[in-house]
Amino acid sequence: MMQQTLTETEMWQAVEARDRSREGEFWLGVLTTGVFCRPGCPARTPLRKNVVFFDSLSEALRSGLRPCKRCRPLGESVATEQAQMIGTACQHILEADTPPTLTQLAQTAGMSESHFQRLFSDIVGISPAQFARSVREQRLHTQLPMADNVLQAGLEAGYATQSQIYQDAPAALGMTPGNFRNKGKDESIRFTIVDTFLGKTLIAATDKGICRLQFGDDEQTLSDAFKADFANATMLPADDDFTHLVEQTVAALGSPEALNLPLDVRGTAFQIKVWHALRSIPFGKTVSYGDLAKHIGQPTASRAVASACGSNDVAVLIPCHRVIGKDGSLTGYRWGTERKRKILQQEQIG
Ligand SMILES: [Zn+2]
Repeated sequence: MMQQTLTETEMWQAVEARDRSREGEFWLGVLTTGVFCRPGCPARTPLRKNVVFFDSLSEALRSGLRPCKRCRPLGESVATEQAQMIGTACQHILEADTPPTLTQLAQTAGMSESHFQRLFSDIVGISPAQFARSVREQRLHTQLPMADNVLQAGLEAGYATQSQIYQDAPAALGMTPGNFRNKGKDESIRFTIVDTFLGKTLIAATDKGICRLQFGDDEQTLSDAFKADFANATMLPADDDFTHLVEQTVAALGSPEALNLPLDVRGTAFQIKVWHALRSIPFGKTVSYGDLAKHIGQPTASRAVASACGSNDVAVLIPCHRVIGKDGSLTGYRWGTERKRKILQQEQIG
């Protein structure tokens, strides 16, 4: 995450002020007690000459100092607090007739505007302004509880604690949080069904990227299901760009290139976190649901992780096929285990 580097003077001021808004930006080591702390640690302020600063938690850990028992720099308390605070901010935006400004939101949270903005985006997946805009649009256009979904998505357990995993802007990855996709309303989509080594393959894309890649045995069934899911979308005929994208996609199935194709998918923050993690499984490798749950920092969430994998609408491009049973069995696959076996075989060959 890009952060402005604080000077030592600024860091020391934050320590003296127990400025919690600086938490996550730096850590301090107290040489006399042999511990390291968050800036907002409630323990007695050490003498300046006994303090060293760290830019990252890993640096603090490498120093050999122990985590402080008072402020628990490795614990999740601050992340949870932050998630709650951002949740409160979302609530303010939702309830206000006129959306609060960034300055007002940051003031209420007791943070600098830039830090608030960054934290909000990390937790909710979109900026406060985007959130306010979508709330407004929501009020104007539909009855769907979209804003609630975004809020809920932002608050899903553990999300904030793992923001490092998620530091790449999800939008840049073609994954947008929030269930905005109202059956493709206000979207223009092109789609086709082609034959690949995995059978009938439906590929659909918006101008931003591929929004669906699914397999089936029967063209009609595939196409009917797709049209029902995107009933409000404007269907456009294939143009050169789309034809080219389809060729690229077919060629990329079972190759590492599959990850380089543009996506345009929507999901809850949790789903996106899981999908993002799936895309970090190296080509040719497999993991278990438990591994994946651990990887996203929620070791007890195997079931939710499995369900997020199952809700993936872009087969292969989000490689949910790389998740298998602990014992090496293929387990299930939304498009049939036979196809899963074929993709994995293809990936072994490279
Ligand atoms: Zn402490």
